Amino acid sequence: MEDCIFCKIANNQAPADIIYEDNKFVVFKNIKPSAPIHLLVVPKKHIPSVQHLELEDKELMGEMFLVAKKIAELQNIANKGYKLVFNVGEGGGQIINHLHLHLIGGWKSEKERDIPGMP
Ligand code: AMP
Ligand code: ZN
Repeated sequence: MEDCIFCKIANNQAPADIIYEDNKFVVFKNIKPSAPIHLLVVPKKHIPSVQHLELEDKELMGEMFLVAKKIAELQNIANKGYKLVFNVGEGGGQIINHLHLHLIGGWKSEKERDIPGMP
């Protein structure tokens, strides 16, 4: 979609620190990380938010979690554990209106992990 920063990143029209890509997803580093590892798992298809998902997207969403799982393993945080977060809509803190899954981890302690405002 025009003027969508995540569509532009997915189409190599905007820069990003891409760590994984396949035909349906791109995974890149958050420019403003809130943890030692803070990645965004982004479907190349422009879907504004979880609230805009259609039945036809159900397979894509399953694949999205499998990509997140694989990336967690590649980043060596799978054993220790990590957070997966969707912000949904303005009230949910969503700023970029292109569906994305935050993959967050890499903390050295529980104290470091506890981000204010996060469950
Ligand atoms: P959300 O609040 O769920 O919409 O999260 C959007 C996230 O995208 C924020 O954490 C931003 O720091 C991050 N972000 C915004 N623009 C970029 C970009 N160009 N490259 C990487 N991360 C970005
Ligand atoms: Zn988009």
